Amino acid sequence: MKVLVAVKRVVDYNVKVRVKADNSGVDLANVKMSMNPFCEIAVEEAVRLKEKGVATEVVVVSIGPSQAQEQLRTALALGADRGILVETAEEVSSLAVAKALKAVVDKEQPQLVILGKQAIDTDNNQTGQMLGALSGMPQGTFASRVEVEGDALKVTREIDGGLQTVALKLPAIVTTDLRLNEPRYASLPNIMKAKKKPLETLSPDALGISVASSVKTLKVEAPAARGAGIKVASVAELVEKLKNEAKVI
Ligand code: AMP
Repeated sequence: MKVLVAVKRVVDYNVKVRVKADNSGVDLANVKMSMNPFCEIAVEEAVRLKEKGVATEVVVVSIGPSQAQEQLRTALALGADRGILVETAEEVSSLAVAKALKAVVDKEQPQLVILGKQAIDTDNNQTGQMLGALSGMPQGTFASRVEVEGDALKVTREIDGGLQTVALKLPAIVTTDLRLNEPRYASLPNIMKAKKKPLETLSPDALGISVASSVKTLKVEAPAARGAGIKVASVAELVEKLKNEAKVI
């Protein structure tokens, strides 16, 4: 079984992002970039399926600038076999990514496609669902458990207030939730080995698609700064302020 994993290059989750002075976006100059954490979970799940003998090949794919090769190499160091970069300097929307992934799915014919549930930079939570619509493949989103049973997939989904288990006919799409697994760290020997693994670069043209966005970011704003707090002298004063100033009780 071939597994395709979509990996996005995003601002590292430890970075405190700064909005550009002209509000056109987030300042990415000299900012540490990493693999989206939910994509790390997706890679881990695919590698575990390979270690169990269920998957035969794990292919990782990213749509983005040439620097996204770094995140693909990280995925290769974590155990993926081969990488594909669909290279574009454009800011890609979820729909553009889903179209590019659909073209890669048509080319690679994977039995399983694993994506993160959400990219932590744009917080869209829609690429897997859009790929499902474009490809006609069934999807198990927000997965906290994935089991392959013959030509079907049992996916436990994290839903509001509980868990839902669905059976999907392969080929299928899974998007990962936080509790699916705990990703491993890449060892130094594996980082070295990953440098020799195949990484193909394709242009959107070569895939016969356009990644032009139909969505334009008009404005990005930082959250309003919080005002300083005050100290109250007594519980009575606190209650009085909550009642008459904050008007919350
Ligand atoms: P989103 O729908 O943008 O929140 O992203 C959900 C998931 O879609 C991510 O965790 C990735 O698995 C995949 N994805 C989104 N953008 C890209 C991209 N540019 N390249 C590869 N995968 C992506």
